[in-house]
This record gives sequence, structure tokens and C-alpha cells, in this order.
Amino acid sequence: MFKRLRILILLFILITVALGNWRTESRLKDWQNSVHVTVYPLAGDDSPVTRDYLSTLRPTNFEALEKYFGSEASRLGLPLLKPVALELAPTLRTAPPSPPEGGDSALTAIVWSLRMRYWAWRHDEAPGPKPDIRLFLVYHDPSRRPTLPHSTGLREGRMALVQVFASPADQGGNQVVTAHELLHTLGATDKYDPETLMPRFPDGFAEPTREPRIPQERAELMAGRIPVGAQTADIPTSLAQTLIGPATAREIGWTHGR
Ligand SMILES: [Zn+2]
Repeated sequence: MFKRLRILILLFILITVALGNWRTESRLKDWQNSVHVTVYPLAGDDSPVTRDYLSTLRPTNFEALEKYFGSEASRLGLPLLKPVALELAPTLRTAPPSPPEGGDSALTAIVWSLRMRYWAWRHDEAPGPKPDIRLFLVYHDPSRRPTLPHSTGLREGRMALVQVFASPADQGGNQVVTAHELLHTLGATDKYDPETLMPRFPDGFAEPTREPRIPQERAELMAGRIPVGAQTADIPTSLAQTLIGPATAREIGWTHGR
């Protein structure tokens, strides 16, 4: 009896959360107003390099992202000057719950996002109104680990855990990863082959009609790589080397009703 009641209550919570998500997502994807995104930086290791880099972070470090979404939106015909407004929160002292690994079914994603929201509610020291989307940027000293753990952007709960390097030289690459994960929270899907990491044709190509098709000069943001050979693709080092393709634009609502 009690077990059944517990399951019913859990179901009720999950349905309420799913409905709330859906409603907020519809509002955000109308793009009538700027989507408010708060960036929460935190250290992914105990390196002094990471600590020092975190102390230099300013809102201006994220202006390139706002500008990128603004110019991409206008290129794609969205009548909104500033689609994404970013806010920088103070550095967090505690790490958020780890995202689900491997089996990212909708249920594990919702459970993680519930744990994340509870965690964010306890640790959110950002001033001002509550954000629409939360991005947790975990900084790592590049001399301690040359490659980064997987970043995760979740539509459920509209939050992302973004793994980045604590170095000025990597700022451009960091911005590409951050923009990619941000679009996941708005419903954009990956456009690369998960086995080979090669961009999928045509949706994962910045210029699918280009002749010859390869090499490409830019990456589609959700494909994440620039195809330069039949089996090779380069990682973009700045947002200027990427664009938002029509399939991604449709997924995030930028072509809705147009
Ligand atoms: Zn992705």
C-alpha cells in the first residue's frame, strides 16, 4: 500500500517537473525575449593555475558568446537583437553532482536534473532574478590533464556541466564547447557520428552545398568539428570557425513560424 503510494507520489513529481520543463521550454523557444543564462565557474582540480585563472574571470570573458548568438540569430532571420543574455555568478566552492554516465535515458536525466536543481538551490549565490538556464563551467589546469572529461548539456532542467581549460589560450575553444552545451539545454541534438566523431552530412556540415564538399572551413556548432578530410576533422579554436546550421536552428525554435 505504502509502496504504491510512494510510487504514485514520485510519478506525480516527475510529471509535474516534465510539464514545467515543457512549459518553460515553449516560452524560451518563442524567442520573444532574451533567454537568461547564468554561468557558474568552479575549479575541477586543486591546481594554483586553475585557482588563479578563476580569479581573473570577468563578465567580459563571456561577451563573445552573447555576440555570437546575436549575429547568428540575425543571419538566420530571428527578429531579436540579444537572444542570449549571460550573467557571471561568483565562483562556486563545491562540486555539483556528477551527471549520469552512459545510459542517459530521459528518466536518469530527470533524476540528475532534480539533484542538480536541489544542489543549485543550496549553492546559488548569483545576484538578481533566477536564470532560465544554468551553465556550470568546470575549469581544469591543462598541464594536469591534456584532455577534458565529457561535458553534458541537459534539456531536462535546462542546465549543463561544461568542462573547460583554465588558460587564456583556450578561451576560444572553451566558448565553442559552452555554446554547444547551451544549445543542448534548448533541445539541439548532436550532429556527429558517436563512433567516429565525424560530422554527419548534411546537417553536421557548416556549408553542405560547398564544392568540393571537403575540406570545409567551419564547423556546424552541434557537429563540433570541421571536416577537412574524408576521415579527419579539426576541432574549432574559436566561435568564428563555427556556425549554427538550419537543422539546429529548427530544433531551438529559431525558424519557428518563419
Ligand atoms: Zn553535444
